Amino acid sequence: MLTEDVVLKAAKLIVNSNYLIALTGSGISAESGIPTFRGEDGLWKKYRPEELATPEAFFSDPKKVWEWYNWRISMVLKAEPNKAHYALTELEKLGLLKTIITQNVDDLHERSGVKNLIKLHGNILEARCISCSYREKIKTPYIEIPPKCPKCGSLLRPDVVWFSEPLPTGALEKMYESAKKADGILVIGTSAMVMPAGALPSFVKNNGGVVIEINLDPTPVSHYADVSIQSKAGEALPAIVKKVKEFLV
Ligand code: NAD
Ligand code: ZN
Repeated sequence: MLTEDVVLKAAKLIVNSNYLIALTGSGISAESGIPTFRGEDGLWKKYRPEELATPEAFFSDPKKVWEWYNWRISMVLKAEPNKAHYALTELEKLGLLKTIITQNVDDLHERSGVKNLIKLHGNILEARCISCSYREKIKTPYIEIPPKCPKCGSLLRPDVVWFSEPLPTGALEKMYESAKKADGILVIGTSAMVMPAGALPSFVKNNGGVVIEINLDPTPVSHYADVSIQSKAGEALPAIVKKVKEFLV
């Protein structure tokens, strides 16, 4: 619950940290109208995301997978960053938050003005060719699907990491680099079940760092977090940042 007590505790831990990082998941964008995979709106035409976000699904039915991505792309294009995204940007501007590591494929952290962002699962607003190095930005959903590469005619695929695929090496290295330095982590809107990002909170904890969690529901992180706030990110984060600023004046 979002009480004065937990807000105060979280704010104190943030102010006392030297190298705070954040891990975000789809829950932080839920209040912007982008469904999480596991929430009630996560299903699309009775399909589960696990049946669509895989290389196997793409190669057996690229049209169906692209229809699903078109639907998701249109939601991301319509969405705006919410108070939680802006609160994190403010913490970064205050010099208190060093890096945001996100599992999200939307661009709402970028649009909220964050500078130091590590995107682990790619970008839903880009497509790349499965055969050559061609890539393009997506400004509107595709009219003809599946889209083809204008250079070589092969299929274009969304530039995201699908289930069973490895994470981009650069992003992974940066993630470990910042996690090693971290003495605190904010864990926001993620069930912390998708590896390797899901292991970050316990990694920071085992290194002697503090863990502050904000999630609507309990997660595997909740029982060892120093503060676990069961609340909407768009309500909890602005309250915490307001308190942090009171400490700083
Ligand atoms: P997840 O495993 O990160 O779970 C979402 C979590 O958010 C849940 O624990 C839920 O309790 C919490 N939550 C929901 N609304 C919240 C709110 N308003 N405030 C705080 N917490 C809230 O995410 P997932 O949906 O299971 O997705 C797994 C993967 O799918 C991600 O790693 C990501 O790559 C991809 N995905 C991305 C987006 C996006 O970019 N916006 C959306 C859906 C899925
Ligand atoms: Zn090509």
